[in-house]
Amino acid sequence: MSFFREEFIARSAAVRVRFGPGVRRSVAEEMEALGARRALILTTPQQAELADEFSAYCGGLAVGSYTGATMHTPVSVSEDATRLAGALGADVLLSVGGGSTIGLGKAIALRTDLPQIVVPTTYAGSEATPIIGQTENGVKTTQSTAKVQPEVILYDAELVTTLPVEMTVTSALNAMAHAAEGLYARDRSPISTLMAVEGLRAFRDGLPRVLANPEDTSARGETLYGAWLCGTVLGQVGMALHHKLCHTLGGSFDLPHAQTHAIVLPHAIAYNAQAALEQLAPLAELFGDSNPGRGLRSFAKQVGSPMALRDLGLAEADLDRAADLAVANPYWNPRPVERDAIRKLLQAAWAGEELAV
Ligand code: NAD
Repeated sequence: MSFFREEFIARSAAVRVRFGPGVRRSVAEEMEALGARRALILTTPQQAELADEFSAYCGGLAVGSYTGATMHTPVSVSEDATRLAGALGADVLLSVGGGSTIGLGKAIALRTDLPQIVVPTTYAGSEATPIIGQTENGVKTTQSTAKVQPEVILYDAELVTTLPVEMTVTSALNAMAHAAEGLYARDRSPISTLMAVEGLRAFRDGLPRVLANPEDTSARGETLYGAWLCGTVLGQVGMALHHKLCHTLGGSFDLPHAQTHAIVLPHAIAYNAQAALEQLAPLAELFGDSNPGRGLRSFAKQVGSPMALRDLGLAEADLDRAADLAVANPYWNPRPVERDAIRKLLQAAWAGEELAV
C-alpha cells in the first residue's frame, strides 16, 4: 500500500517532544533549555495535587499555580488566569492535564505569547495542535494559530496510569477519530497518512494491553505514542463530518467530549466509507473488516466503549434539531452531508445500532 500523492503540501510545527516513564521530572531541564525561570503551573481542580508535585520538579523555578482549568475553555477563566500570569511575572506556562488544561494554557499563550511546556494526561491530543476553541456566552469559536502551539511536550506514561478505565477508552477513541478522518482529508500528505495509520495501529495494539493492566507503563506509553501521532494529524489536516457532528452535539446538547467522539466515530466512518473506501483501506486492514465503520464498531465494543448517545442523556426528540444543526453550515466532506442521511446516522448512534448504508 502506498500513500504517495502527486501533489501535496506537508506542514510540521517546531515542537520538542520527549517520551519516557518519569520524564515529567525533567521539567526544570526543559525550562532551562527555553531560557525560562518563572513557571505558572496549570491544572484542573480534580488534578490540583499535581500542581504541588510539579512545583517540586521545577526546583524553585515555579512562581505559582492556577488549578481552575475547566471544560470548553471559558474566556472568563482564561482572562482570570492570564491576569495571574502577569501578576506573577510568569515566563513559561506548564500545563499538566487533559484537553481542558491544555486549552487553558493555549488561551493564556494566545493573550501573552508565553511559551508552553505541556504534560498530557489523556489521549485527546490538543498538545500537538495549533488549534484553540474558546467559549463565551455559550458560543464556542475555534481558531488555528501558531501562537498557541506548545513548544515542548513531555509524554510520561506513569501519569496516565491514573486515567480511569472508562475515560481511557473514550479518550483513546477520541484520538483515533483524528487519525481516521485524517485518512480522507483533502489536504492530507503522505506523511500525515503515515502518522494516522501508525497512530491507529498503536491504539489497536496498545489499548487492549492497557485494559488488561492499566498500570502497565509500556502499554500506556504505546497509547500515548498513538495520541501524539493522532493529535499531530489533527493539527496538520482538516477534519470533516465526524468532528463537525461531535462539535454540534457537544456545543448544542452539552454532551461530554470524549464519550461523544467514541460513540459517533464508527457511524461517521460508515457514512463516509461509501465515498472514501480507498482512503479508508488502512483502517479496514487494521481492524480486519472490509467495512471500516463495522471494523471500528467491533473494536469499540471489544474495548468496552459506550455505544449509544441515549446513554449520555440525549433525548430522541432532539435528533431532528441535531440533524438540522449538523447540516446548517456547509463544509467539505468526502460524501455529501445530506439531512435525511445524517438524521439516519444520528438515529443509529442514539440507539447504538449499526448504521445501514
Ligand atoms: P479533560 O481535560 O476535560 O479531562 C476530563 C477530566 O479528567 C478532568 O477532570 C481531568 O482533571 C481528569 N483527568 C485528566 N487526566 C487524568 C488522569 N490521568 N487521571 C485522572 N484524571 C484525569 O478531558 P479531555 O478529553 O482530555 O479534553 C477535552 C477537551 O479538550 C475538550 O474541550 C476538547 O474540545 C479539547 N480538545 C482540544 C483539542 C485542540 O486541538 N484544541 C484537541 C482535542 C481536545
